[in-house]
Amino acid sequence: MSVFSSPSFDEHEDVAFHYDGETGLKAIISLHSTVMGPALGGCRMWAYDDDAAALTDVLRLSRGMTFKNALADLPWGGGKSVIIGNAKTDKTPAMMREMGRFVDSFGGRYIVAEDVGTTPEDMAEIAKTTRNVRGVKSVGFDPSPGTAYGVFKGLEAAVGEALGASDLKGVRVAVQGLGHVGYDLARRLHAAGAVLTVTDIDAAALARAERELGATVVGLDAIYDADVDVYAPCALGATLNDDTIPRLKASIVAGAANNQLAETRHGDRLADRGILYAPDYVLNAGGVIHIYHEGPDFDRDATFAHIGRIGGTMRDIFRRAKDDGIPPHIAADRLAKDKLAAAKAGQRKANRPLAAE
Ligand code: NAD
Repeated sequence: MSVFSSPSFDEHEDVAFHYDGETGLKAIISLHSTVMGPALGGCRMWAYDDDAAALTDVLRLSRGMTFKNALADLPWGGGKSVIIGNAKTDKTPAMMREMGRFVDSFGGRYIVAEDVGTTPEDMAEIAKTTRNVRGVKSVGFDPSPGTAYGVFKGLEAAVGEALGASDLKGVRVAVQGLGHVGYDLARRLHAAGAVLTVTDIDAAALARAERELGATVVGLDAIYDADVDVYAPCALGATLNDDTIPRLKASIVAGAANNQLAETRHGDRLADRGILYAPDYVLNAGGVIHIYHEGPDFDRDATFAHIGRIGGTMRDIFRRAKDDGIPPHIAADRLAKDKLAAAKAGQRKANRPLAAE
């Protein structure tokens, strides 16, 4: 298993492995960049096929967090951690406390939060051994409404760009997944005059959307064929793939789900078909922005004002895409890299030895 020569290695600052025989903890923490500040990123617990798969995942995810936090205007760099194991059968409170000690060994350069396979309750356990944790249950915040608001603002920007519309009246949106984020997004879209088509595996959520939002319900697979302007994936990752992209009638993709592109090349396929893609990690950053603001002095208005800036960031991305003749998913990465390079240059200047002044 190689680190520096791994295809997923992209000048990561630190990659640390930790094993604890007493609790069975096997974990990796990866700090991609601390240029913007301490690296914030979730802890994923997953039964990886092998150690190499865990390493690839943590490298890829921590790099993604650098870009996400930079474009969300947060004073945070990008990091991530993985615990190798089955979250349902292997996890214990003692293991989580040991994970907290591992996080703490970074002295504040890594801040952990929940991710797939970990919960706010786990973060509360981790908080017993480190202060460098966010999203702890006792704080009592749910970031999902913040995420939904950010998706709404980004979707509005995409509609302005692709359809030239200044509002969402009569805009047809297909929402896939009516969970914590999807339902709140659907509610906002309905209030703004959008016409909804929805799907979910949860019959109660569908009945509620029909009743409260006048939504049209379609089958799980039929959502890709819906005659709509916007496809909003809010359930699963990798729904933009070789099978679905040719079927889409929508001219915009804008939703909350993580990792919507099955592979990076699918971003190009969308552009080839003239479909405007609002990059997922920019659109769904409301959750991490919410986490940044959480705490005893939580100010909801200031938090939502910060999240609302996702609309402006999305417009910057579309402008950059046009200027450089590239698809938006590439433009977003370029904007983030420019921000990092500018911050790095500023730091170099500040660190210049006195003799060189
Ligand atoms: P959730 O689990 O509350 O909701 C997911 C919904 O999708 C559920 O209602 C579920 O029944 C439905 N679903 C599952 N399989 C489906 C299928 N095949 N077709 C249609 N619907 C299906 O999750 P959430 O918190 O609303 O998050 C939704 C997405 O947004 C996830 O991809 C998540 O990673 C991403 N995200 C969430 C947040 C947040 O703040 N919650 C932040 C960033 C990204």
